[in-house]
Amino acid sequence: MAVPIRADLAGIPDYIIPGQPPGAILLNSNEGPLAPPPSLIEAITRAAAESHRYPTWFSDELVSRLADRLGVPEQWITVGCGSVSLCQQLIQAYCAPGDEIVCAWRSFEAYPVFARVAGVTARTVPLDPEHRHDLDAMLAAITPATRVVFVCNPNNPTGTVVRADALRRFLDEVPSDVLVVLDEAYREFLTDPDVPDGIPLALERENVAVLRTFSKAYALAGVRIGYCVAPPPIAAGTAKVGVPFAVSRLAQAAGLAALEHADEVGARCETVIRERERLSAAMREAGHDVPPSQANFLWLPLRERSARFGEHCAESGIMVRVFGKDGVRVTVGLPEENDAFLRAAQSFAHAVS
Ligand code: PMP
Repeated sequence: MAVPIRADLAGIPDYIIPGQPPGAILLNSNEGPLAPPPSLIEAITRAAAESHRYPTWFSDELVSRLADRLGVPEQWITVGCGSVSLCQQLIQAYCAPGDEIVCAWRSFEAYPVFARVAGVTARTVPLDPEHRHDLDAMLAAITPATRVVFVCNPNNPTGTVVRADALRRFLDEVPSDVLVVLDEAYREFLTDPDVPDGIPLALERENVAVLRTFSKAYALAGVRIGYCVAPPPIAAGTAKVGVPFAVSRLAQAAGLAALEHADEVGARCETVIRERERLSAAMREAGHDVPPSQANFLWLPLRERSARFGEHCAESGIMVRVFGKDGVRVTVGLPEENDAFLRAAQSFAHAVS
């Protein structure tokens, strides 16, 4: 007889990664369009020479460098195997079965999935008509069972943001025994000066955690490294449920090297931002509704046409991410990749008109 999976997990769909035909243009996972610079690859290679030894448990050197750079004490920082793993750790550490989390929808899909895995109910609050977090509705969704609220800023998959005044008001209203997680995976692509840095907000409070990653702006998605900045009791709680030695030597070395070469990263982000604006303008000119994005991707709320648009792109050798009947998310790639995407979008318009 087959070994049965926990009954309450049976309904969770398998994580299906669509096939990536050889040579396809990959605009489906919000990755950096270029390989990491040679300096980072050298650092990873050097670390690989000591692969027979376990890494440090708490990524000590990286924590110390991050603390200097971010202006927070070391005890505030937890490094993880990607920020997604820290997201799961926060739910595990702060929610018991039967508790609730609140998050926007659509937002990062991992929040409700991790909640379910932990036996926790996710209250998902629809975005407002402009595809932004509806913070008032999120406040109204908080119940005595709520333990964690996620604010994804900029939001994946819509690229929209929560601005300073609204976020401050929200944080002031959330009960102080509810943890607010500010997920800033795409922070480096922001140009709107009114979007707050979550870390100073966390420093003023006892119930705010900030998630950051090296996967996007730092082009290290394949290495798996991210971090959480939170008050020491929350950092300790997060670490308690972590997998021992989850952050490899290679990942720690890559993170350190990425911080050392932050200028190079900044220059790459500027290129992505320029391309984002070019792509948004071209898509709007072609008649598409494109919410202003502050991330490294665009959201196309194509509704019923989403799947057909995704298939059309795939037929043109371009992988984008379709989100049911809500829309399509397109990662900003290299200029020539974006041009190819624009051609595909144009031929779709002709095909359906
Ligand atoms: N948060 C958000 C909003 C994301 O979109 C992602 C990746 N898609 C993550 C966290 C996780 O990134 P990683 O685990 O690669 O750090």
